[in-house]
Amino acid sequence: MSDLLARHRAVMPSWLALYYDAPIEITAGKGNRVTDSEGRTYLDFFAGIVTNMLGYDVPEVREAVERQIARGVVHTSTLYLLRGQVELAEKIARLSGIPDAKVFFTNSGTEANETALLLATCARGSDQVLAMRNSYHGRSYGTIAVTGNRGWKNSALSPLNVHYLHGTDRDLPAFRGMSDADYIAACVADLRDVLATATAPDVACLIAEPIQGVGGFAMPPDGLFAAYKEVLDEHGILFVSDEVQTGWGRTGSGFWGIGNHGVTPDALTFAKGLGNGFAIGGVVARGDLMDGLTANGVSTFGGNPVSTAAANATLDYVLDHDLQANAARLGPVVLDGLRPLAGSLATVGAVRGRGLMFAVDMIDPGTGAPSPELAGAVLEETRRRGLLVGKGGLRGNVLRMAPPLTLTEEEAREGRDILIEALRTVNADAVG
Ligand code: PLP
Repeated sequence: MSDLLARHRAVMPSWLALYYDAPIEITAGKGNRVTDSEGRTYLDFFAGIVTNMLGYDVPEVREAVERQIARGVVHTSTLYLLRGQVELAEKIARLSGIPDAKVFFTNSGTEANETALLLATCARGSDQVLAMRNSYHGRSYGTIAVTGNRGWKNSALSPLNVHYLHGTDRDLPAFRGMSDADYIAACVADLRDVLATATAPDVACLIAEPIQGVGGFAMPPDGLFAAYKEVLDEHGILFVSDEVQTGWGRTGSGFWGIGNHGVTPDALTFAKGLGNGFAIGGVVARGDLMDGLTANGVSTFGGNPVSTAAANATLDYVLDHDLQANAARLGPVVLDGLRPLAGSLATVGAVRGRGLMFAVDMIDPGTGAPSPELAGAVLEETRRRGLLVGKGGLRGNVLRMAPPLTLTEEEAREGRDILIEALRTVNADAVG
């Protein structure tokens, strides 16, 4: 065990996730690559943790942050006017597509979702919330409550009264083999049943990820949320789209993941990629909903001058370079290479993705059961070959790839080929 790992284990919580048998320390980054303390360089197919959407050491972002620091104002207070914060809010309000939108900045996705839940529950005067099975929304008391993933639920207690909906569980016996249309109809019938039988009449909101991040990039069929929204509207229930992983053009086919469902949410939450590594998150919501809170509010560090300088530069870069189009163009380069493995390698279950978000399910070649061990083995193999990928999923068996949106075609091919090689090696070892 390295000295740093021993020190980490001594003073950091045992439940803090660490990748690899021998965890690495990343000490430098340039472009879409990082270097560890041993001098090994990796192509980063997970963009940090879906945070570095422009990769590393981007001059535009670095210079914007340096300019802010040079002014001597790293932080004063959000009690004063902050020009960068207002400019960023204007851009996000415009990009949200939400009418009369207003923005509140936080430091993380958890706080963003916590704020959205506060807005919705206060607006509706109800602690009843709908959430999705297999979802992840953060690690605070309220966001754990709406998280539908056992692996991330530390508390059995809840400040909210939560009912979970279907949407990414087509492997359940009741849904197996259904067409998209039939599955959506079954999900909607279940939602109607939940509202008619399991809840009081004043449900506050549905919170959902358009593609479930921690849940293994599980994808509800396109159109599910439009069908849900029709029912929600009948009851005045608000819709919150958690875009912490799917925002900023990552899915290639819309600036927000929810775009694929033809729905405008009442509130949309964001974080991760916006600051390209600097901590910033937030909520953009209909003005009346945002203004509906009556008590004073402040986030001490939310939307601070340095984070908003980074975020303004990052967002401008995304728009100026049309990175959504890059995600749409390069997604298939990776995905089309991975898809055939689902039929040809016994350890590969499903392969799916959209834009620069891809997932591979690892399964036991004998039983077809989810195999977190094989996912771990692929992680080790890719690392050995100079590629960083993520893992996740309800059963820990999903490989997750979300490279920077600045990925080049050459890097897309390189990452794809390393991944294929690693999957073949792990398959050969497992099958014998
Ligand atoms: N929502 C989603 C969809 C996420 O993936 C995450 C983090 O992974 C969060 C919320 C929580 O964000 P944070 O870790 O910044 O609190």
